[in-house]
Amino acid sequence: MANSFIDKARITVRAGNGGNGVVSFHREKYVAAGGPDGGDGGKGGSVILQVDDNLSTLMDFRYKRKYSAPNGMDGQGGRRSGRDGENLIIKVPRGTLVRDTESGEIIQDMSSGEPYVLCKGGRGGWGNSHFATPTRQVPRFAKGGLPGESHDVVLELKLLADVGLVGFPNVGKSTLLSVVTRAQPKIANYHFTTLSPNLGVVYAGEGRSFVLADIPGIIEGASEGAGLGHDFLRHIDRCRLLIHVVDVSGSEGRDPVQDFDAINAELSQYSADLEKRPQIVAANKSDILEDPENLERLRAHVEKLGYPLFEISAAAHKGVEQLMNKVSETLSTLPPIVVYEPEYVPKPPVIDYSQPLDIQRLDDGTWVVDGPWLQRLIGNVNLNDYESRMYFDKTLRDSGLYQQLEDMGIQDGDTVSLYDFEFEYQR
Ligand code: GDP
Ligand code: MG
Repeated sequence: MANSFIDKARITVRAGNGGNGVVSFHREKYVAAGGPDGGDGGKGGSVILQVDDNLSTLMDFRYKRKYSAPNGMDGQGGRRSGRDGENLIIKVPRGTLVRDTESGEIIQDMSSGEPYVLCKGGRGGWGNSHFATPTRQVPRFAKGGLPGESHDVVLELKLLADVGLVGFPNVGKSTLLSVVTRAQPKIANYHFTTLSPNLGVVYAGEGRSFVLADIPGIIEGASEGAGLGHDFLRHIDRCRLLIHVVDVSGSEGRDPVQDFDAINAELSQYSADLEKRPQIVAANKSDILEDPENLERLRAHVEKLGYPLFEISAAAHKGVEQLMNKVSETLSTLPPIVVYEPEYVPKPPVIDYSQPLDIQRLDDGTWVVDGPWLQRLIGNVNLNDYESRMYFDKTLRDSGLYQQLEDMGIQDGDTVSLYDFEFEYQR
């Protein structure tokens, strides 16, 4: 499709599972009883998002929707750990919002250069060499690796530009961008030429610079979903300031005042926020102005509404510098670009307590507990974090595990072993 400007995509990502730990005993000629030497499973690869400034659309995600990082390898004898699964790096354009598909909540705003771990790889299970203690010399058990996280997410591109160009098609937006930046947008004398956004940096002197974005042309009815619709209005959502380009030449038989109002109506239908966004009006194509009355009517109209107007000719480079100086000056009084705060809070895993746990009592008094839900729970809590530990403890209590251990005769001070986590039991 010609207008396949992709700025929204739904993908499924899955981190790798941890490899399994193994049970193995050291064997050597003439050595009677070898000790346990089963190695740990490797960690599963994580899925990491990273901004790439060479990307300006989410096009790639249209063809590939499933992303998974490799699993960790199983451990081996001789205390050899399994190899970790490699992390999978997914590159996204700057300004990509990552949302939870189910709730629509923002997980992360990929605006900074910081990589973001979207799905953590599962931890590898411990091999039996890990479970050896002076009193437990023959541990005949090892642990399975924990599952990697997975997530169904929607990527949504909201460009990161200080200034957005708005206006009808063919009024000269791309020309203006090409004149004030090094960007090379397509310029043509027909409508709807710009199908993907273009960004350029404007150097406004004295180390002051800002990012200017040219988005696909707004057409009437855009905010109601006609034509290119909302898809591109989203890109100016974050702009701190808009340059509203109006063709005042009358060469296409357009009325500049009507055009100006029509675009503003589109913006306000999209959002009240966008309606209130500061604007500077660029009255373009003044070099071929047929009727000066056109320009003066527009000037009176916009100044009454409180917008400054600059008479320019993008093609003839006239008035452009003054316009950019005003833009730069105005930006210095405006708040920085919006970065969205994460809204999404991962839900605790759904635990089906009806699945029975497997409890084994070892000779040394250790209680080894195993089971699918416990595995999932451990994969999801960070035991280095106090709150998580409290949640973990409460979940174990609620599950009836402690009661079950009591019924089986557990004593204070006995060791309870859950995957790679052991603790001393206290009533
Ligand atoms: P956009 O659709 O708003 O991006 O408009 P373009 O930048 O692609 O320009 C549309 C047409 O108007 C092209 O043929 C440009 O050369 C022409 N144009 C742009 N600015 C001016 C100007 O200041 N004066 C004149 N005479 N033509 C212009
Ligand atoms: Mg254009």
